[in-house]
Amino acid sequence: MQRRILPGLADVPDEVDVVVVGLGITGAGVALDAVTRGLTVLAVDAHDLAFGTSRWSSKLVHGGLRYLAQGQLAIARESAVERGILMEVTAPHLVHPLPMLTPVNDAMTRRRAAVTWGGLRAGDVLRRSARTTTRTLPRPRRLNATETLRLAPALRADTLRGGLLAWDGQLEDDARLVVTVARTAASYGAHVRTRARVTSATGTAVTVRDELTGVTYDVRARAVVNATGVWAGGLDDQVRLRPSRGTHLVLRASALPHTRVAVMVPIPGTRSRFAMVLPQPDGTIYVGLTDEPATGPVPDVPQPSEAEIEFLLGAVASAFTTPPTRGDVVGAFAGLRPLIEVAGTDATADLSRRHAILTSATGVTTVVGGKLTTYRRMAQDTLDSLVTAGRLDAGPCRTATLPLLGAAAPDALRRATAPPRLVRRFGADADLVLATAREVTGLADDQLLAPVSDIVPVTLAELVFAVTHEGAHDVGDLLDRRTRVGLVAADRAAAEALARRALRLAATPAGAA
Ligand SMILES: Cc1cc2nc3c(=O)[nH]c(=O)nc-3n(C[C@H](O)[C@H](O)[C@H](O)COP(=O)(O)OP(=O)(O)OC[C@H]3O[C@@H](n4cnc5c(N)ncnc54)[C@H](O)[C@@H]3O)c2cc1C
Repeated sequence: MQRRILPGLADVPDEVDVVVVGLGITGAGVALDAVTRGLTVLAVDAHDLAFGTSRWSSKLVHGGLRYLAQGQLAIARESAVERGILMEVTAPHLVHPLPMLTPVNDAMTRRRAAVTWGGLRAGDVLRRSARTTTRTLPRPRRLNATETLRLAPALRADTLRGGLLAWDGQLEDDARLVVTVARTAASYGAHVRTRARVTSATGTAVTVRDELTGVTYDVRARAVVNATGVWAGGLDDQVRLRPSRGTHLVLRASALPHTRVAVMVPIPGTRSRFAMVLPQPDGTIYVGLTDEPATGPVPDVPQPSEAEIEFLLGAVASAFTTPPTRGDVVGAFAGLRPLIEVAGTDATADLSRRHAILTSATGVTTVVGGKLTTYRRMAQDTLDSLVTAGRLDAGPCRTATLPLLGAAAPDALRRATAPPRLVRRFGADADLVLATAREVTGLADDQLLAPVSDIVPVTLAELVFAVTHEGAHDVGDLLDRRTRVGLVAADRAAAEALARRALRLAATPAGAA
C-alpha cells in the first residue's frame, strides 16, 4: 500500500514489527530494508527527514580509498561495492561520476605524488573487484600540465608539473538521497512521520510525541532501532559518543571560474591529508573539510568556527592563481562525526570508518557510524542481526537490486524531455513532479518552472511536490532539506516568498474550493 510521508502522528498504528527512530540516511535505509522484507514499519524523526548529519556531508559516494590507505581492506571493499550498487542499480539518477584532480605542483614532493598515484591505482583495483564498470567510473590517468590546466584553468600554472585524475561518485544532494530512500520506503507501505520525537524506548515499545500537537502515543513493536546518529546516547545511555566537527565552505562558482572537476589540494604540513574543492550541480563550490573535537552537548545545528573558515581558505590558497578570499565565502556548514568512547578507557574509536550495531540491556538496537555511501549495507546488517537473534521473522534483504523511486539509467535520463533540473533531482519521476504541480496549482508551466533567479535554480514545481509527496511542512523543510537553498543565507531570503507560496498552494489545491 503506497503511503505519503506526513508530519505528525495522526492515525499511526499502535503496533508494528519495527519502529525506526531517526530519519537520516541510516534510519531511512533501515525503514526501506525492513518494509521490503515484508515487515510493518513506523519510522519517525523528531524534526524532519535529513535534519541531522546526513545533510552536512561532502556529498561524495566514496570508493573506500582512505580505508585502503589505513590497511582496512574489508571496509574499503564494502564501500566500493556499495558505491557500485548506488551508481549502477539503486540511484543512478542521484549519483554521478565526479572527476577528481590532484595538481602536482611545488607543494607536492615527487615522493608524495608517487604515493598518491599508487593509491589511485589501488582504488581502481577496488573498483574492478567491486565489478563497477569503467563506463561508470573511468580508470585513473596521469596528466601533463597543459591537460591539467584545461580541466581546471583557475589552477596556478607557474608551479604546476602535471596532475593525477581519478573518479569517484558525487551525490546530487545528500538530503535528496535521504528523502528518496524515505519516499521509497513509504511507497512500499512504511509509515514515515516527521515532527515525531521518541521520548523513551525499550526493545519492544516506544513513547513518541507528536511535536505539532504535543500528544504522546505508545507504540508496541517486535524491534526498536535507534538510528539517531550523534544523538544516539540520548535514547540509550550505554552508547557514549564524543563527536568531531567537519566544516565546509560554500563559494559561488565564479570564485574559481571554470572549475568543473573536484580539486584535491595537499594540506601543507601533513603527509596524506587533502583539502577538497568540490563543484556542485547547483552552481556553487564547496571547500572542505576540517576535523575538530566538538565538546559539550550535541547542538541541533552545529556551527563552523571562524578559525575553521580561515584554515580551509589557507589550505587551498597555494593551488590557485587567484585564491578565494573571506569575501568569496557565501556560506559555511558543519556536521558531526560520531566517535564512540571505548568502555573503561579515555580512548575513542572513529565510527565514521565502519558502523556498529549494539543491543543494549533494554533491548533497543542502535546502529551508528558508517557513511552515506554504506547506508544500504548498514540497514541490511541491522535487520539480519535482528532476524538471526530471533527478534524478527523475515525474508532475506532485497535492497541491493531494488531501484529507488525515479531511478533510471544515465542514457535514459539524458533522453528525458522533462526540465533538466527536475530530471537531475527526481530522475524518471520528473514528469510526476511537474504533473503533480500542474494538478495541485492549476498554474502554467512557465510559472511552475521559473527559477527564483539566475543564481537560485529552485522552482515552484519541486516545492509543491515536496509538500504533497515528501512530507515538507514549513519553509525550513523546503529550503534547508528538500532543496539546499538555505546553504547560502542570501539565496534563502530570495527564495522564501516562493516557499510560502508553495505551502499555500498545496494547502488549497486548485479546484478544491
Ligand atoms: C563533515 C562530514 C562529511 C561527511 N561526508 C561524507 C561523504 O562525503 N560521503 C559519505 O558517504 N559519508 C559522509 N559522511 C558520513 C555521513 O554523513 C554520516 O555517516 C551519515 O549522514 C549519518 O547518518 P545518520 O542517519 O546515522 O545520522 P543523522 O543524519 O544525524 O540522523 C539522525 C536523525 O535522528 C533524529 N533524531 C535524534 N533524536 C531523535 C529522537 N529522540 N526521536 C526521533 N528522531 C530523533 C535527528 O533529527 C536526525 O534527523 C560525512 C560526515 C560528516 C560529519
